[in-house]
Amino acid sequence: MNAITARIKKADPLFVPHLIRCGEWEAYYEGLLASLGTSRVVFVDFDLTAFERDALRALNEGYSQIDSRFGVPRWRIFERAYLEGGAKIDGEFRSLSGGEHLQIAYADLLRRTSLDDLVAYAAGNVPLVPGFKDFVRRLRRQGIAVVGITHGVWQIAQAVLSENGLGDLPFMANWIDEEKMEVVLVDESDGGLDKGRLVRLAHQLGLRPIAVIGDSKGDAGMARAVLELPEPGLVMARGQQCGLAAWCRAYAPSQRWILVERFDRPVKAGVDRADLLAADVIEQFLGGQ
Ligand SMILES: [Mg+2]
Repeated sequence: MNAITARIKKADPLFVPHLIRCGEWEAYYEGLLASLGTSRVVFVDFDLTAFERDALRALNEGYSQIDSRFGVPRWRIFERAYLEGGAKIDGEFRSLSGGEHLQIAYADLLRRTSLDDLVAYAAGNVPLVPGFKDFVRRLRRQGIAVVGITHGVWQIAQAVLSENGLGDLPFMANWIDEEKMEVVLVDESDGGLDKGRLVRLAHQLGLRPIAVIGDSKGDAGMARAVLELPEPGLVMARGQQCGLAAWCRAYAPSQRWILVERFDRPVKAGVDRADLLAADVIEQFLGGQ
């Protein structure tokens, strides 16, 4: 058993993988939210939002294997099958959803590498975005919890967080079943986890989602969810060129979204916010309510 899994299994009676396997992830999520000790919550994506690198991409690059038939790394073929509408995988043309991409990419990695090695590699090669740790700490001091929602896998995300001093950050993720060595998806949605549904569920359970932070089109679901709440929250898009920023330009009211590059640098938005960090914006937003 992986060391992180062993520790969590001991500490957490609800044990996320068991519940996810049984299709009872909502019970786990409810317990997670109840343990926050506050009703105010900011949801954050991990890959390329809180994490400087996409963890799966980092692993793919670290453990790249060339496909003998096509002479290109196999992970690039998987990515094409997911991002570019389809590709030939082992002789068969396939178009993959985000969740299927996750499953096939990890299956390929785990055929050649142990999960312990992947966990150690991610911990050593996926840094946090500058300022993220202070961002989390500052919000906590204000009674605001930060909860991660990632389309990645739990063991890898936990390794990155633990390595960077945020091992106690609660989050929802897909899961690597360590007996079968395969990825178990939380639900049937495209990324294996419906981010918008998690934001809406939090609201239904009496919490106040204040903001969501993400980088990709896959985060648009939680952005839409937070904007459509009776008390709408904020959307923060990381990166000028990112898919979520494009979505915000098209669909979000201009006063409800901002651009973040790093958590230790001022956000990019209207002139009146030019000297504010992401945490300042959230505090100011709450102060003005
Ligand atoms: Mg992301």
